[in-house]
Amino acid sequence: MLTQQQLENFAELAVRVGANMQPNQEVVIRCDVQCSDFAHLIAKKAYEFGAKYVHMQWRDEVLGRINMLGASKETLCEVPDYLLAQNKYYIEHNVCLISISAGDPNILKGCDPDKLKASNLANMQANKEFRNATMSNYLRWTIVSIPTTAWAKQVFPHEDAETAVDKMWDAIGRIMRLDAPDPTEAWKQHIATLRRRASFLNQHNFEYIHLTNSRGTDLRVGLATDHQWIAAEEEGQDGVSFTANMPTEEIFTAPHNRKIDGTVVNALPLVNSGNIIDDFEITFEKGKVVDYKARVGYEALKNILTTDEGVLSLGEIALIGKHSPIAESGILFYNTLFDENASCHLAFGASYPTTVKGGNEMTEEQLRQHGMNQSLQHVDFMVGTKDINIDGIGYDGTVTPLFRDGEWVI
Ligand code: ZN
Ligand code: ZN
Repeated sequence: MLTQQQLENFAELAVRVGANMQPNQEVVIRCDVQCSDFAHLIAKKAYEFGAKYVHMQWRDEVLGRINMLGASKETLCEVPDYLLAQNKYYIEHNVCLISISAGDPNILKGCDPDKLKASNLANMQANKEFRNATMSNYLRWTIVSIPTTAWAKQVFPHEDAETAVDKMWDAIGRIMRLDAPDPTEAWKQHIATLRRRASFLNQHNFEYIHLTNSRGTDLRVGLATDHQWIAAEEEGQDGVSFTANMPTEEIFTAPHNRKIDGTVVNALPLVNSGNIIDDFEITFEKGKVVDYKARVGYEALKNILTTDEGVLSLGEIALIGKHSPIAESGILFYNTLFDENASCHLAFGASYPTTVKGGNEMTEEQLRQHGMNQSLQHVDFMVGTKDINIDGIGYDGTVTPLFRDGEWVI
Protein backbone atom coordinates (compact mmCIF):
# COMPACT_ATOMS: atom_id res chain seq x y z
CA MET A 1 0.00 0.00 0.00
CA LEU A 2 1.22 3.50 -0.76
CA THR A 3 1.58 6.24 1.83
CA GLN A 4 -0.68 9.31 1.59
CA GLN A 5 2.33 11.30 0.41
CA GLN A 6 3.04 8.79 -2.37
CA LEU A 7 -0.59 8.90 -3.48
CA GLU A 8 -0.43 12.68 -3.62
CA ASN A 9 2.80 12.50 -5.62
CA PHE A 10 1.08 10.08 -8.01
CA ALA A 11 -1.86 12.48 -8.47
CA GLU A 12 0.60 15.30 -9.09
CA LEU A 13 2.33 13.23 -11.79
CA ALA A 14 -0.98 12.78 -13.60
CA VAL A 15 -1.68 16.53 -13.51
CA ARG A 16 1.79 17.97 -14.14
CA VAL A 17 3.74 15.38 -16.17
CA GLY A 18 0.90 13.42 -17.79
CA ALA A 19 -1.69 15.96 -18.96
CA ASN A 20 0.64 18.87 -18.10
CA MET A 21 -2.34 20.97 -17.09
CA GLN A 22 -1.77 24.72 -17.46
CA PRO A 23 -3.06 27.34 -15.01
CA ASN A 24 -6.69 28.33 -15.55
CA GLN A 25 -7.39 25.23 -17.64
CA GLU A 26 -10.46 23.02 -17.27
CA VAL A 27 -9.78 19.35 -16.46
CA VAL A 28 -11.87 16.28 -17.22
CA ILE A 29 -11.24 13.18 -15.14
CA ARG A 30 -12.63 10.01 -16.64
CA CYS A 31 -12.74 6.98 -14.38
CA ASP A 32 -14.70 4.12 -12.93
CA VAL A 33 -16.66 4.77 -9.71
CA GLN A 34 -14.37 2.26 -7.96
CA CYS A 35 -11.51 4.74 -8.39
CA SER A 36 -13.32 7.73 -6.88
CA ASP A 37 -10.88 8.28 -3.98
CA PHE A 38 -7.94 8.64 -6.32
CA ALA A 39 -9.97 10.76 -8.75
CA HIS A 40 -10.81 13.17 -5.90
CA LEU A 41 -7.13 13.40 -5.06
CA ILE A 42 -6.32 14.29 -8.68
CA ALA A 43 -9.05 16.94 -8.59
CA LYS A 44 -7.55 18.54 -5.45
CA LYS A 45 -4.07 18.48 -7.01
CA ALA A 46 -5.40 20.10 -10.16
CA TYR A 47 -6.71 23.04 -8.10
CA GLU A 48 -3.39 23.26 -6.22
CA PHE A 49 -1.74 23.86 -9.57
CA GLY A 50 -4.29 26.40 -10.74
CA ALA A 51 -7.10 24.48 -12.47
CA LYS A 52 -10.14 26.56 -13.45
CA TYR A 53 -12.67 23.76 -12.96
CA VAL A 54 -12.65 19.96 -12.66
CA HIS A 55 -15.32 17.89 -14.44
CA MET A 56 -15.90 14.22 -13.60
CA GLN A 57 -16.97 11.68 -16.17
CA TRP A 58 -17.87 8.64 -14.10
CA ARG A 59 -17.79 5.19 -15.61
CA ASP A 60 -19.33 2.13 -13.99
CA GLU A 61 -18.10 -1.16 -15.38
CA VAL A 62 -20.63 -3.19 -13.39
CA LEU A 63 -23.57 -1.17 -14.77
CA GLY A 64 -21.90 -1.51 -18.18
CA ARG A 65 -22.21 -5.28 -17.87
CA ILE A 66 -25.79 -5.08 -16.56
CA ASN A 67 -26.75 -2.87 -19.54
CA MET A 68 -24.95 -5.14 -21.99
CA LEU A 69 -26.95 -8.10 -20.70
CA GLY A 70 -30.28 -6.29 -20.26
CA ALA A 71 -30.65 -3.77 -23.09
CA SER A 72 -31.41 -4.58 -26.71
CA LYS A 73 -28.78 -4.28 -29.43
CA GLU A 74 -30.72 -1.37 -30.98
CA THR A 75 -30.79 0.57 -27.71
CA LEU A 76 -27.10 -0.09 -27.05
CA CYS A 77 -26.32 1.42 -30.45
CA GLU A 78 -28.12 4.70 -29.70
CA VAL A 79 -25.68 7.24 -28.33
CA PRO A 80 -27.55 9.95 -26.34
CA ASP A 81 -27.22 13.52 -27.65
CA TYR A 82 -26.27 14.89 -24.24
CA LEU A 83 -23.10 12.80 -24.26
CA LEU A 84 -22.10 14.21 -27.63
CA ALA A 85 -22.91 17.73 -26.43
CA GLN A 86 -20.67 17.11 -23.43
CA ASN A 87 -17.76 16.05 -25.67
CA LYS A 88 -18.33 19.12 -27.82
CA TYR A 89 -18.12 21.32 -24.74
CA TYR A 90 -14.82 19.67 -23.77
CA ILE A 91 -13.32 20.36 -27.19
CA GLU A 92 -14.56 23.96 -27.28
CA HIS A 93 -13.21 24.63 -23.80
CA ASN A 94 -9.86 23.01 -24.62
CA VAL A 95 -9.89 20.85 -21.50
CA CYS A 96 -7.09 18.46 -20.59
CA LEU A 97 -8.20 14.89 -20.07
CA ILE A 98 -6.97 12.52 -17.36
CA SER A 99 -8.20 8.94 -17.69
CA ILE A 100 -7.77 6.30 -15.04
CA SER A 101 -7.57 2.96 -16.80
CA ALA A 102 -8.51 0.30 -14.28
CA GLY A 103 -10.96 -2.51 -14.45
CA ASP A 104 -11.80 -6.16 -14.52
CA PRO A 105 -10.25 -7.66 -17.67
CA ASN A 106 -13.15 -10.18 -17.68
CA ILE A 107 -16.05 -7.81 -16.97
CA LEU A 108 -17.79 -8.53 -20.27
CA LYS A 109 -17.19 -12.28 -20.23
CA GLY A 110 -20.22 -14.16 -21.49
CA CYS A 111 -21.90 -11.10 -23.04
CA ASP A 112 -23.26 -11.45 -26.57
CA PRO A 113 -20.28 -10.75 -28.89
CA ASP A 114 -22.60 -9.44 -31.59
CA LYS A 115 -24.15 -6.83 -29.25
CA LEU A 116 -20.70 -5.88 -27.96
CA LYS A 117 -19.28 -5.38 -31.41
CA ALA A 118 -22.30 -3.35 -32.60
CA SER A 119 -22.40 -1.06 -29.57
CA ASN A 120 -18.61 -0.53 -29.65
CA LEU A 121 -18.80 0.43 -33.31
CA ALA A 122 -21.78 2.78 -32.77
CA ASN A 123 -19.99 4.49 -29.89
CA MET A 124 -16.73 4.77 -31.79
CA GLN A 125 -18.52 6.37 -34.73
CA ALA A 126 -20.51 8.76 -32.54
CA ASN A 127 -17.42 9.84 -30.61
CA LYS A 128 -15.20 10.16 -33.67
CA GLU A 129 -14.79 13.92 -33.36
CA PHE A 130 -13.69 13.66 -29.74
CA ARG A 131 -11.33 10.78 -30.48
CA ASN A 132 -9.75 12.80 -33.30
CA ALA A 133 -9.27 15.68 -30.87
CA THR A 134 -7.16 13.44 -28.64
CA MET A 135 -5.41 11.36 -31.36
CA SER A 136 -4.27 14.53 -33.14
CA ASN A 137 -3.17 16.05 -29.80
CA TYR A 138 -5.65 18.93 -30.15
CA LEU A 139 -6.47 18.20 -26.50
CA ARG A 140 -3.74 17.16 -24.10
CA TRP A 141 -4.49 13.85 -22.41
CA THR A 142 -2.99 11.15 -20.25
CA ILE A 143 -3.78 7.67 -18.95
CA VAL A 144 -2.75 6.37 -15.52
CA SER A 145 -3.77 3.19 -13.68
CA ILE A 146 -4.60 2.11 -10.15
CA PRO A 147 -5.66 -1.31 -8.85
CA THR A 148 -9.25 -2.44 -8.60
CA THR A 149 -10.16 -5.62 -6.72
CA ALA A 150 -11.23 -7.75 -9.68
CA TRP A 151 -8.22 -6.70 -11.72
CA ALA A 152 -5.76 -7.36 -8.87
CA LYS A 153 -7.31 -10.82 -8.39
CA GLN A 154 -6.69 -11.59 -12.06
CA VAL A 155 -3.03 -10.53 -11.75
CA PHE A 156 -2.48 -12.32 -8.39
CA PRO A 157 -4.99 -15.19 -8.54
CA HIS A 158 -3.55 -17.04 -5.53
CA GLU A 159 -3.87 -14.14 -3.10
CA ASP A 160 -6.95 -13.03 -1.18
CA ALA A 161 -8.51 -9.82 -2.50
CA GLU A 162 -6.91 -7.48 0.02
CA THR A 163 -3.38 -8.87 -0.41
CA ALA A 164 -3.77 -8.84 -4.20
CA VAL A 165 -4.72 -5.15 -4.17
CA ASP A 166 -1.82 -4.32 -1.80
CA LYS A 167 0.65 -6.16 -4.02
CA MET A 168 -0.62 -4.35 -7.05
CA TRP A 169 -0.31 -0.94 -5.37
CA ASP A 170 3.30 -1.83 -4.45
CA ALA A 171 4.08 -2.82 -8.02
CA ILE A 172 2.44 0.26 -9.51
CA GLY A 173 4.21 2.45 -6.95
CA ARG A 174 7.62 1.18 -8.09
CA ILE A 175 6.68 1.34 -11.77
CA MET A 176 5.49 4.95 -11.35
CA ARG A 177 8.78 5.78 -9.57
CA LEU A 178 6.85 6.86 -6.47
CA ASP A 179 9.72 5.53 -4.34
CA ALA A 180 11.97 8.28 -5.72
CA PRO A 181 12.46 11.30 -3.42
CA ASP A 182 10.85 13.58 -6.01
CA PRO A 183 8.79 11.50 -8.46
CA THR A 184 8.00 14.44 -10.76
CA GLU A 185 11.74 15.14 -11.10
CA ALA A 186 12.45 11.39 -11.57
CA TRP A 187 9.94 11.34 -14.44
CA LYS A 188 11.41 14.40 -16.07
CA GLN A 189 14.84 12.70 -16.01
CA HIS A 190 13.39 9.43 -17.31
CA ILE A 191 11.66 11.26 -20.17
CA ALA A 192 14.90 13.11 -20.99
CA THR A 193 16.77 9.76 -21.22
CA LEU A 194 14.13 8.29 -23.53
CA ARG A 195 14.26 11.36 -25.73
CA ARG A 196 18.06 11.34 -25.88
CA ARG A 197 17.99 7.73 -27.11
CA ALA A 198 15.23 8.49 -29.61
CA SER A 199 17.26 11.35 -31.05
CA PHE A 200 20.38 9.13 -31.25
CA LEU A 201 18.33 6.64 -33.28
CA ASN A 202 16.87 9.42 -35.44
CA GLN A 203 20.31 10.88 -36.18
CA HIS A 204 21.59 7.47 -37.33
CA ASN A 205 18.60 6.87 -39.60
CA PHE A 206 19.22 3.10 -39.65
CA GLU A 207 18.10 1.02 -42.59
CA TYR A 208 17.66 -2.13 -40.50
CA ILE A 209 17.34 -3.19 -36.89
CA HIS A 210 18.82 -6.66 -36.30
CA LEU A 211 17.56 -8.71 -33.35
CA THR A 212 19.22 -11.93 -32.13
CA ASN A 213 18.99 -14.12 -29.03
CA SER A 214 19.59 -17.65 -27.76
CA ARG A 215 15.93 -18.70 -28.21
CA GLY A 216 16.31 -18.60 -31.98
CA THR A 217 15.42 -15.02 -32.84
CA ASP A 218 17.41 -13.78 -35.83
CA LEU A 219 15.35 -11.07 -37.49
CA ARG A 220 16.23 -8.11 -39.67
CA VAL A 221 13.53 -5.45 -39.49
CA GLY A 222 13.87 -2.80 -42.22
CA LEU A 223 12.64 0.64 -41.14
CA ALA A 224 10.14 2.76 -43.09
CA THR A 225 11.61 5.42 -45.37
CA ASP A 226 11.81 8.74 -43.44
CA HIS A 227 10.77 6.92 -40.25
CA GLN A 228 11.09 8.71 -36.93
CA TRP A 229 11.54 7.19 -33.49
CA ILE A 230 9.07 8.48 -30.90
CA ALA A 231 9.34 8.40 -27.12
CA ALA A 232 7.43 9.64 -24.09
CA GLU A 233 6.52 13.27 -24.59
CA GLU A 234 4.34 14.54 -27.39
CA GLU A 235 3.40 18.06 -28.22
CA GLY A 236 -0.15 19.35 -27.95
CA GLN A 237 -1.43 21.59 -30.73
CA ASP A 238 -1.07 24.51 -28.30
CA GLY A 239 2.69 23.77 -28.23
CA VAL A 240 2.63 22.45 -24.65
CA SER A 241 4.20 19.00 -24.23
CA PHE A 242 2.47 16.15 -22.42
CA THR A 243 2.94 12.43 -21.72
CA ALA A 244 0.01 10.41 -22.97
CA ASN A 245 0.89 7.15 -21.26
CA MET A 246 2.10 6.90 -17.69
CA PRO A 247 4.03 4.69 -17.31
CA THR A 248 5.88 4.81 -20.61
CA GLU A 249 9.18 3.10 -21.33
CA GLU A 250 9.13 2.52 -25.07
CA ILE A 251 10.90 4.13 -28.01
CA PHE A 252 9.15 3.06 -31.18
CA THR A 253 8.94 3.51 -34.91
CA ALA A 254 7.56 1.88 -38.06
CA PRO A 255 9.11 -1.09 -39.86
CA HIS A 256 9.27 -1.11 -43.66
CA ASN A 257 6.62 -3.63 -44.58
CA ARG A 258 8.57 -5.08 -47.52
CA LYS A 259 11.94 -5.37 -45.77
CA ILE A 260 11.55 -7.84 -42.88
CA ASP A 261 13.45 -11.16 -43.03
CA GLY A 262 14.20 -13.96 -40.59
CA THR A 263 12.62 -15.58 -37.55
CA VAL A 264 11.43 -14.16 -34.24
CA VAL A 265 10.51 -16.11 -31.09
CA ASN A 266 8.20 -14.58 -28.45
CA ALA A 267 9.55 -13.58 -25.03
CA LEU A 268 6.26 -13.28 -23.08
CA PRO A 269 2.77 -14.69 -23.63
CA LEU A 270 0.50 -12.74 -25.98
CA VAL A 271 -2.91 -12.10 -24.41
CA ASN A 272 -5.50 -11.34 -27.08
CA SER A 273 -9.30 -11.23 -26.64
CA GLY A 274 -9.12 -13.47 -23.61
CA ASN A 275 -6.80 -16.01 -25.26
CA ILE A 276 -3.21 -16.76 -24.30
CA ILE A 277 -0.74 -17.49 -27.09
CA ASP A 278 2.72 -18.66 -26.07
CA ASP A 279 5.86 -20.44 -27.25
CA PHE A 280 5.44 -19.16 -30.76
CA GLU A 281 7.76 -18.28 -33.59
CA ILE A 282 7.15 -16.33 -36.75
CA THR A 283 9.17 -16.39 -39.97
CA PHE A 284 9.19 -13.45 -42.38
CA GLU A 285 10.34 -13.09 -45.96
CA LYS A 286 10.40 -9.75 -47.76
CA GLY A 287 8.19 -8.21 -45.08
CA LYS A 288 5.57 -10.96 -44.90
CA VAL A 289 4.82 -13.80 -42.51
CA VAL A 290 5.54 -17.00 -44.44
CA ASP A 291 5.39 -19.47 -41.55
CA TYR A 292 4.27 -19.56 -37.90
CA LYS A 293 4.13 -22.08 -35.08
CA ALA A 294 2.68 -21.90 -31.57
CA ARG A 295 2.81 -24.53 -28.83
CA VAL A 296 0.03 -22.70 -26.93
CA GLY A 297 -2.93 -20.98 -28.61
CA TYR A 298 -2.17 -21.82 -32.24
CA GLU A 299 -5.81 -21.32 -33.31
CA ALA A 300 -5.94 -17.87 -31.65
CA LEU A 301 -2.73 -16.87 -33.44
CA LYS A 302 -4.19 -18.14 -36.69
CA ASN A 303 -7.34 -16.03 -36.06
CA ILE A 304 -5.22 -12.91 -35.73
CA LEU A 305 -3.10 -13.66 -38.78
CA THR A 306 -6.08 -14.24 -41.05
CA THR A 307 -7.83 -10.89 -40.38
CA ASP A 308 -6.59 -9.20 -43.54
CA GLU A 309 -3.56 -8.94 -45.80
CA GLY A 310 -1.84 -6.23 -43.72
CA VAL A 311 -1.79 -8.22 -40.50
CA LEU A 312 0.88 -10.46 -42.06
CA SER A 313 3.42 -7.67 -41.78
CA LEU A 314 4.59 -5.40 -38.97
CA GLY A 315 3.45 -1.89 -38.00
CA GLU A 316 5.66 -1.20 -35.00
CA ILE A 317 9.04 -1.96 -33.49
CA ALA A 318 9.53 -0.75 -29.91
CA LEU A 319 12.68 -0.95 -27.78
CA ILE A 320 12.62 -1.26 -23.98
CA GLY A 321 15.50 -2.24 -21.69
CA LYS A 322 15.24 -5.18 -19.26
CA HIS A 323 15.98 -2.91 -16.28
CA SER A 324 12.85 -0.81 -16.76
CA PRO A 325 10.72 -1.01 -13.59
CA ILE A 326 7.88 -2.80 -15.41
CA ALA A 327 10.22 -5.44 -16.84
CA GLU A 328 11.83 -5.94 -13.43
CA SER A 329 8.45 -6.43 -11.74
CA GLY A 330 8.05 -9.62 -13.81
CA ILE A 331 4.26 -9.24 -13.57
CA LEU A 332 1.80 -9.89 -16.40
CA PHE A 333 -0.85 -7.18 -15.92
CA TYR A 334 -3.42 -8.11 -18.60
CA ASN A 335 -3.47 -4.38 -19.37
CA THR A 336 -1.77 -2.87 -22.42
CA LEU A 337 -0.57 0.23 -20.58
CA PHE A 338 1.76 -1.98 -18.54
CA ASP A 339 2.38 -5.11 -20.59
CA GLU A 340 3.43 -3.23 -23.71
CA ASN A 341 6.02 -1.35 -21.70
CA ALA A 342 7.60 -4.49 -20.22
CA SER A 343 9.66 -5.71 -23.15
CA CYS A 344 10.86 -4.92 -26.66
CA HIS A 345 7.91 -5.61 -28.91
CA LEU A 346 6.75 -5.81 -32.46
CA ALA A 347 3.17 -5.37 -33.66
CA PHE A 348 1.37 -7.26 -36.39
CA GLY A 349 -0.76 -4.89 -38.47
CA ALA A 350 -1.17 -1.13 -38.67
CA SER A 351 1.61 1.43 -38.25
CA TYR A 352 1.17 4.88 -36.63
CA PRO A 353 1.27 7.71 -39.21
CA THR A 354 3.21 9.83 -36.67
CA THR A 355 6.19 7.44 -36.98
CA VAL A 356 7.06 8.75 -40.44
CA LYS A 357 7.99 12.39 -41.10
CA GLY A 358 4.90 14.28 -42.29
CA GLY A 359 2.83 11.11 -41.93
CA ASN A 360 -0.27 12.88 -40.58
CA GLU A 361 -0.61 14.71 -43.92
CA MET A 362 0.07 11.70 -46.19
CA THR A 363 -2.49 9.78 -48.23
CA GLU A 364 -2.73 6.01 -47.76
CA GLU A 365 -0.83 5.57 -51.02
CA GLN A 366 2.01 7.86 -49.88
CA LEU A 367 2.23 5.99 -46.59
CA ARG A 368 2.37 2.72 -48.49
CA GLN A 369 5.25 3.99 -50.64
CA HIS A 370 7.21 4.71 -47.45
CA GLY A 371 6.70 1.10 -46.35
CA MET A 372 4.10 2.01 -43.72
CA ASN A 373 1.95 -1.03 -43.05
CA GLN A 374 -1.85 -0.82 -43.02
CA SER A 375 -4.35 -3.18 -41.42
CA LEU A 376 -7.46 -3.22 -39.23
CA GLN A 377 -5.37 -4.92 -36.55
CA HIS A 378 -2.58 -3.71 -34.35
CA VAL A 379 -1.44 -6.57 -32.11
CA ASP A 380 1.69 -6.12 -30.02
CA PHE A 381 3.79 -9.11 -29.04
CA MET A 382 6.84 -9.18 -26.81
CA VAL A 383 10.21 -10.29 -28.17
CA GLY A 384 12.71 -8.72 -25.74
CA THR A 385 14.37 -11.56 -23.83
CA LYS A 386 16.97 -10.89 -21.12
CA ASP A 387 19.73 -11.89 -23.55
CA ILE A 388 18.57 -10.07 -26.67
CA ASN A 389 21.21 -8.27 -28.73
CA ILE A 390 20.09 -5.50 -31.04
CA ASP A 391 22.13 -3.68 -33.68
CA GLY A 392 21.29 -0.77 -35.93
CA ILE A 393 22.51 -1.23 -39.50
CA GLY A 394 23.09 1.91 -41.57
CA TYR A 395 22.43 2.35 -45.30
CA ASP A 396 26.23 2.02 -45.75
CA GLY A 397 26.29 -1.28 -43.82
CA THR A 398 27.81 0.16 -40.61
CA VAL A 399 26.74 -1.79 -37.52
CA THR A 400 25.95 0.14 -34.31
CA PRO A 401 25.28 -1.88 -31.14
CA LEU A 402 22.06 -0.72 -29.42
CA PHE A 403 21.32 -3.53 -26.92
CA ARG A 404 23.56 -6.14 -25.32
CA ASP A 405 22.04 -8.81 -23.08
CA GLY A 406 18.65 -7.17 -23.00
CA GLU A 407 19.73 -3.65 -22.09
CA TRP A 408 20.53 -0.41 -23.90
CA VAL A 409 24.19 0.32 -24.56
CA ILE A 410 23.61 3.84 -25.91
ZN1 ZN B 1 4.39 -0.03 -28.46
ZN1 ZN C 1 1.71 -1.13 -30.26
